[in-house]
Amino acid sequence: MRIRILNLFCGLILCSNAAALNEALPTPPRAILLFMADDLGYHDTSAYGCEKVPCPNVERLADQGLLFTDAHSTNSVCTPSRYSLLTGQYAWRQRGTGILPGDAALILPTRDKAATLGTLMQQAGYRTAAIGKWHLGLGSGNIDWNQPIAPSPAEVGFDYSFIMAATGDRVPCVYVENGQVCKLDPQDPIRVNYRGQTYPGEKTATSHPELLKPWGRPSNNQHAGTIIDGISRIGHMSGGTAALWKDQDIADDITTAAERFIAGCGGKPLFLYFCTNDIHVPRDPHARFRGKSPLGIRGDVTLQMDDSLGRLMTALETAGYPATETLIIFTSDNGPVISDGYLDRARIDCADHKPAHPWRGGKYTLYEGGTRVPFIVSWPGTIQPGTSPALLCQMDIGRTLATLCGLEIPAGSMRDSENHLPALLGRSQDARRELVTQAFEAPRYALRSGQSKYIPAFRKQPEQLYHLATDPAEQHNLAPQQPEEAARLRTRLQQLTADSVH
Ligand code: CA
Repeated sequence: MRIRILNLFCGLILCSNAAALNEALPTPPRAILLFMADDLGYHDTSAYGCEKVPCPNVERLADQGLLFTDAHSTNSVCTPSRYSLLTGQYAWRQRGTGILPGDAALILPTRDKAATLGTLMQQAGYRTAAIGKWHLGLGSGNIDWNQPIAPSPAEVGFDYSFIMAATGDRVPCVYVENGQVCKLDPQDPIRVNYRGQTYPGEKTATSHPELLKPWGRPSNNQHAGTIIDGISRIGHMSGGTAALWKDQDIADDITTAAERFIAGCGGKPLFLYFCTNDIHVPRDPHARFRGKSPLGIRGDVTLQMDDSLGRLMTALETAGYPATETLIIFTSDNGPVISDGYLDRARIDCADHKPAHPWRGGKYTLYEGGTRVPFIVSWPGTIQPGTSPALLCQMDIGRTLATLCGLEIPAGSMRDSENHLPALLGRSQDARRELVTQAFEAPRYALRSGQSKYIPAFRKQPEQLYHLATDPAEQHNLAPQQPEEAARLRTRLQQLTADSVH
């Protein structure tokens, strides 16, 4: 009875909040730009305090928008993080959502199975596009790159797509536009494998090290596969010579594709999921940015990312989408890494740079630096500028935008996505109560419960409990002093991840 009364009470509060919110719901913006940087750390841009890398466009966004200090990806690596963003659910609910090889099958549910962020935005009347890095698989297995590819972003809610199939450091190094490899010469078919099989005539870091650019040399065997554009990659590829990208042009190529998409929408509602390749490895900045930062090429590609953002902000204005009718969400798919597979001097050039500051850890880890990412929202006239400490997760974007657009979400879709429209609009600093984060490295899960952070024991590491309000850098493990709190969070984390298929 007591529980029922409590539920009723909570229900009344929720209803009254919902009513208050509904009264004040803004008209949905005409343009939505979801700008996803890659491996960009919390402290990698000037907007979050890094004086060494001035990013005027990210700063402009922060000045006119709301900067979040406790927003997260679900995972500290790419594929599962993006899976969660687009499906609104934790990646552990599905097998095969780890870091994908470049020839993996599509892991997102097609539109007949579940809603995605793309299908929801289509339902709300937006013309949708996915441009840039994808890394969520294509096709249904045994992909033939020389034929039309399906399923592709078209089957998961994107009217237009111009994507890199996986990552900059994985083959095939080609763009795929609407399910077809761009500039493919049928006389020079593409073959790709991740089985370690070298093709006749293929040049790898082992066989032809003299072909490598100084910053394109691998630091491990995984990255020592096919050499393309002076950089060795993960995996093996042959053919497709005319279709190969130039790494120094990737930012321009995808930004130009996005500008074309924006202009082509003719002022009608658009949703653009734009994913930079920056600042992921291999880092090979265009000549315009090379040597322009004091942090070597890792800093240079950060400037390049900022340039892409500025170009898209300008493109929207020029195409008739004023800032007051444009919602921009700027974020990163996971925390930062300095050196990640190439001998690109990053360790030397960034010796004094702390890309996740003030958080501990970074990409691959369960500490805050792994998933606490830059997150800025801008919608002048609707979102009041400032900063917000609300605990948010990228996978909440789906249900939050659906609420903004007045959409019903089909049962079974977006099951872990929470509506935090009041927080997104800056009307509330109250958002998530708890969040499970996941890492590439074991132990796989951590739990945020308010300002408490719990990481289970693993191998020789004891369980860890931190109070982030007083210990943001996760330096003082309180688990030995607070065994009851540790036990409570351990049990809660086990409950929340009980459905894990991993
Ligand atoms: Ca990433």
